[in-house]
Amino acid sequence: MLTDNLRTVKDKIEAACRRCGRDPSEVTLVAVSKTKPLEDVEILLAAGQMDFGENYVQEIIDKVEHISRPVNWHMIGHLQTNKVRQIMGKVSLIQSVDSLHLAERIEKEAAKKDLVCRILLQVNVAGEETKFGLSPREVPDLIEKISPMPHVRIAGLMTSAPFVENPEENRCYFRKLHDLFIDIREKNIDNVDMDILSMGMTNDYEVAIEEGATMIRVGTAIFGARNYG
Ligand SMILES: *Cc1c(COP(=O)(O)O)cnc(C)c1O
Repeated sequence: MLTDNLRTVKDKIEAACRRCGRDPSEVTLVAVSKTKPLEDVEILLAAGQMDFGENYVQEIIDKVEHISRPVNWHMIGHLQTNKVRQIMGKVSLIQSVDSLHLAERIEKEAAKKDLVCRILLQVNVAGEETKFGLSPREVPDLIEKISPMPHVRIAGLMTSAPFVENPEENRCYFRKLHDLFIDIREKNIDNVDMDILSMGMTNDYEVAIEEGATMIRVGTAIFGARNYG
């Protein structure tokens, strides 16, 4: 079942890429395994899936400790500064950085472990009050402040679009973030790589791909509905 779902999602990624003349190898699929058991992750890992997304620090730590072989873990949920230390060195990308305070803590903890931590800046493109993330106009200033940090590497931008029935409603937000991504990339800022544009979830990843996403984060379409109990 899980591997069939993975195949279906990959087929849809390929179809979306064909529609807009992109190469499917430009789009990384992050399977969002939050609340799902390690056995599910192991099944997908055996099927060749390498990138997994998690929202909760404790859940990442539990899974990292018990997984049979290394995978690329992505922290995609809101991260409190006092929990940065616990995941440092365990995740390949922190996608949810939305404040200088958090970036400073990441710098400090990465320096202690003598590593460079890759991050994405989370942008709340639609300006939803209930969501974390920077407003688009705050992004350039924060990049300027983070880019000199020797143990933090900005790798791109991330957004979670609103939950909508019709994914077409999110196209404008994806387009807006892509525009910002290109503007920043053209500035060629030292110590900043704009090569990851993480946008699109189960309901809207095909539209996100058409609008330039290089990374999508898909949970429900692969693992089925979540039960938060
Ligand atoms: C849960 C979550 C996802 C996956 O959502 P689905 O709709 O299940 O695909 C993606 N990104 C973030 C930030 C999430 O919290």
